[in-house]
Amino acid sequence: MKKHNFSAGPSILAPEVIQKAAEAVVDFEGMGLSLIEISHRSPEFVSVINKARALVLELLDLEDKGYSVLFLQGGASMEFVRVAYNLLSDNGKAGYVNTGTWANNAQNEASFIGEIIEVASSKDKNYSYIPKEIIVPNDLDYLHLTSNNTIYGTQFHQFPSTQIPLICDMSSDIFSRVLDFSKFDLIYAGAQKNIGAAGTSLVVVKDAVLGKVQRNIPNILNYAKHIERESMYHTPSVFSVYTCYLTLQWLKDLGGIPAIERKNRAKAHLLYSEIDRNSLFEGTAAVEDRSLMNVTFVLKDLKLEEKFDLLLKEKNISGLKGHRTVGGYRASIYNAMPLESVMHLVETMQTFERMFG
Ligand SMILES: *Cc1c(COP(=O)(O)O)cnc(C)c1O
Repeated sequence: MKKHNFSAGPSILAPEVIQKAAEAVVDFEGMGLSLIEISHRSPEFVSVINKARALVLELLDLEDKGYSVLFLQGGASMEFVRVAYNLLSDNGKAGYVNTGTWANNAQNEASFIGEIIEVASSKDKNYSYIPKEIIVPNDLDYLHLTSNNTIYGTQFHQFPSTQIPLICDMSSDIFSRVLDFSKFDLIYAGAQKNIGAAGTSLVVVKDAVLGKVQRNIPNILNYAKHIERESMYHTPSVFSVYTCYLTLQWLKDLGGIPAIERKNRAKAHLLYSEIDRNSLFEGTAAVEDRSLMNVTFVLKDLKLEEKFDLLLKEKNISGLKGHRTVGGYRASIYNAMPLESVMHLVETMQTFERMFG
């Protein structure tokens, strides 16, 4: 039986996406060839990546606004490096908001390349909240944010306003809610949380922010080179890109970001209401900063954990364990997560309360 999969990443994809991807691996569009044994320069695959790039701009409402879309390799972690390489000048400084492990990794990687300033941090309370009223100096090369903190279950619901280029790691919440994406100069996201199979990362970059640093950038790290070659500077991760294309088309057919946001809000509301109601559980993130994507919570009585884990298993629920640095539980309820699975989890929590409350 198919499990209710709350994994934080790689994570759930729409069943149609999995089905079509599986078929393409066997026989891609009736070619008599597998998707993963044809040239990435074949017209069939070039058409996939081009359609995927066009869908990204359409869904984010960034068409004709001077943005380029790339599907690159190295995961979101590689973009920590590429962002700094392309945007942080030798004698400049970049600002980072430290809202979690990934945000912290982003600034650490950038500090190998240039000077960084931590403009705000929520490390003092184990990243359980989003810093407010952030003051952003105007002389920075850019400000880097992490819109959703996958591990801690916090999310920016309001973004600081800046005069400088705004860069955002949206790995775990891209395409999940309506935002004015044109406020961002560069957005990146590893595919494996909310877009597709692991192996590629999406980069959406405003062309005008590039070309300002003086350093010589190796091609593989150079966004301008990847744009010039239309994401084909070297072999893209074909399978992963194909799953992204399928997911983007699935999302468009569903009604795009406004439609998925309504579903995401309903799922999150249902689960947070239960966490707040149930006498055995409590949430770990500051209420006003709670994430719509990763819901973190703990058992008030840690001695009950083993019993709850057993019930989860019995109820066919998988991937609910919290990140090792936080403990407890984390329900990742990304775009592809059906409301029914969230209802099933809520009912399981209610059953547990009847047993041990
Ligand atoms: C998972 C994650 C990353 C790391 O992604 P990789 O593709 O494994 O490098 C970075 N940022 C955020 C917000 C994440 O959730």
